[in-house]
Amino acid sequence: MKDTKVILDENEIPKYFYNILPDLPEPLAPPLNPLTQEPISPKDLEVIFPKELIRQEMSEEHKIKIPDEVLDALIRMGRPSPLFRATNLEKFLKTPAKIYFKHEGLNPCGSHKPNTAIAQAYYNAKEGTEVLSTETGAGQWGSALSYSCLFFGLKCKVFMVRISFDQKPYRKVIMNTYGAEVYASPSTETDYGRTVLKRSPETPGSLGIAISEAIEIAAKNENTKYALGSVLNHVMLHQTIIGQEVQKQLNMIEETPDILIGCVGGGSNFAGFSFPFIKDKIQGNLNAEFIAVEPTSCPTLTEGKYIYDHGDSAGMTPLLKMYSLGKDFIPPSIHAGGLRYHGMAPTISLLAKHKLITPEAYTQEEIFDAAKVFAKTEGIIPAPESAHAIKSAIVHALKCRKNNESKTIVFNLSGHGLLDLGAY
Ligand SMILES: *Cc1c(COP(=O)(O)O)cnc(C)c1O
Repeated sequence: MKDTKVILDENEIPKYFYNILPDLPEPLAPPLNPLTQEPISPKDLEVIFPKELIRQEMSEEHKIKIPDEVLDALIRMGRPSPLFRATNLEKFLKTPAKIYFKHEGLNPCGSHKPNTAIAQAYYNAKEGTEVLSTETGAGQWGSALSYSCLFFGLKCKVFMVRISFDQKPYRKVIMNTYGAEVYASPSTETDYGRTVLKRSPETPGSLGIAISEAIEIAAKNENTKYALGSVLNHVMLHQTIIGQEVQKQLNMIEETPDILIGCVGGGSNFAGFSFPFIKDKIQGNLNAEFIAVEPTSCPTLTEGKYIYDHGDSAGMTPLLKMYSLGKDFIPPSIHAGGLRYHGMAPTISLLAKHKLITPEAYTQEEIFDAAKVFAKTEGIIPAPESAHAIKSAIVHALKCRKNNESKTIVFNLSGHGLLDLGAY
């Protein structure tokens, strides 16, 4: 019984965010100013981000202390989150492998996204921001930021990718209920949105377009700042509370992971889950494999190029060195809306270039088959995004059966799929 469900006491919640920058195998290439192509200065970013987040974005400190107010909000939301052993899935697959998953879908928003949303709302409120603008794909990030703004007295404006706005109306209801304003993107609220609509009125939208709109609003309004739910270094580091918890949980049951798996859109849940372990690997203390799973229809790591590219479609964001499919890439309208992004976090991109991370890609059909197997064995309907990690875990567990190997596989269940039932 000891490993069915591994829980931590509240006082064991991590007290620091782990910053991977100083541990990377080579320094990260600096973000470039889109106008001058010169490395960006912190001042350039102050129009859209609060100073503390800019400091964290560029910090070389290993650990960044989590403020008490943030810890309090994380605990209120349900952290630490449990680690489960998927014994029924193991039996179904007849595998000698052990499969564990970290469940990030049990909080009020149903995904890992509030881990950074809470921190970002806190630092913004502290520096006097009144409104946060943002984009959202499937709606998880928009819900998480709307939720987090509640606790720190901020207003929230969300640009939601049109295809998801139409396919997933309930997430809009959640955001509205939390008091946020939600616009289908491209919208008529911004110059860029109006330009895109004129060019292609029927566009399903994309995260790149929605980001451009949200930044435009922040750049034009004094009291408004912008929040990003993935990709940037400070977002990755906020999410590392996931992996730090998993480390403690695996220690409690005396397990060492052989394979760690997460799905990747912009990379934040994967980074948060894996970076504390990748640190151990870089330092020679862990011999594990790290697998980042993406859809074949948006194959950023498996088929993209490692280049300087914009994070948005309008070309307003700094240029980031990352794997990218090109800023104008508009992915097909798959159900895993959170994985429809043309770029990948610079930190993950660098680790993939150094082959410390192995990318895999699966089709939508494959991932829904895996999602249904998981639902039938473990009783949890996963988010379509998270089902990418499940698919890979199943592939590796079956490989263990074939080779009669008893590996320990751990994956991150980034969210539940209870608002994705249309897709099922
Ligand atoms: C947003 C989201 C993702 C993808 O974003 P990352 O930044 O790559 O983690 C994955 N799973 C869920 C449930 C999400 O909400």
